[in-house]
Amino acid sequence: TQTILLASRPQGTPTAEQFRFETREVPAPTAGQVLLKTRYVSVDPYMRGRMSAAKSYVAPFEVGAPIVGGIVAEVVESHSDKLPVGSVVVGSLPWQEYNVTDAQAVNQVPADKAPASYFLGLLGMPGLTAYFGLLDICQPKAGETVVVSGAAGAVGMIVGQLAKIHGARVIGTAGSDEKVAYLKELGFDEAINYKTTPDIAKALAAAAPNGIDCYFDNVGGAITDAVYDQLNKHARIALCGQISTYNATEAPVGPRPEGKLLKTSTKLQGFIVSDYLDRWPEGVKQLTEWYAQGKLKGEETVTEGFDQIPAAFLGLFKGENTGKAVVKVA
Ligand code: NDP
Repeated sequence: TQTILLASRPQGTPTAEQFRFETREVPAPTAGQVLLKTRYVSVDPYMRGRMSAAKSYVAPFEVGAPIVGGIVAEVVESHSDKLPVGSVVVGSLPWQEYNVTDAQAVNQVPADKAPASYFLGLLGMPGLTAYFGLLDICQPKAGETVVVSGAAGAVGMIVGQLAKIHGARVIGTAGSDEKVAYLKELGFDEAINYKTTPDIAKALAAAAPNGIDCYFDNVGGAITDAVYDQLNKHARIALCGQISTYNATEAPVGPRPEGKLLKTSTKLQGFIVSDYLDRWPEGVKQLTEWYAQGKLKGEETVTEGFDQIPAAFLGLFKGENTGKAVVKVA
């Protein structure tokens, strides 16, 4: 099977040099195991963290070992009653065309309910991140104003739709006019292109005349500084990601926002979606229901070909994706 290894650790923005393709033997599956053919590979910003040696909430990838990430695969040989041939599963697996794994290590998905790739996006990890971060931490109420940064990405576009379901006014920031137009189509009240808007604070003030009650932060940096200036009393912030800083080689020095949080009695909470593992079934059930009712849309940018996985990953840092970035492996 083809496999993709971490060739070296990136300094700053990762490049294609950090990935190496190799051909490896697939072992024969034994009792309790299945042979999986990869259908879709998920590329996610958090994987940038695992490419570095720094200690975090998940262990770093090893140099010379396969990259591991979210994969949707089909069972092509089974030695487990749990997963018959033809089952579609999702799991955290090496970036390989074929994998042998214990049946217990992956989860079967209801492939009749949605396109298989959605279990890497709307009905998978990013959807659950949006669901728990927004509904548990921000708790938006009808009539409140919600801002989400990275709004046209996998997590952000779901956050906005969930906030609309809960009756909030929703404002998103994103990196192109096409993304801004897409967000408005999706039902966002306002969207701001942070790359072409000279004064983000001013644009936010115009879009949120009643101030900001909830902020779902995917991005950090200058956008977040501008949001902090306009928080209402008892605002809530879900600190989900800080993608604008992931490739930084030095800590950015910006305005110190802590005083603003104090003056507005804002509650800020960082979280990792796996904090909610015990409530995962509840989240999947609710997202699937809203999707079936047409209240939630999935959007994805699909790149084709196993050899394109590194490029699709690198594209995350250039804003190449709208919605969930996935790679279809033929
Ligand atoms: P996205 O689909 O949003 O892809 C990344 C997007 O980030 C790009 O499309 C780009 O859009 C934007 N971006 C890239 N570089 C910058 C930059 N320098 N400044 C501002 N925006 C930038 O990814 P996800 O939805 O999967 O993830 C979104 C965030 O959520 C990430 O920070 C991720 O780490 C975090 N996350 C956290 C989880 C948790 O458990 N806490 C779980 C999953 C994700 P644009 O065109 O708008 O620039």
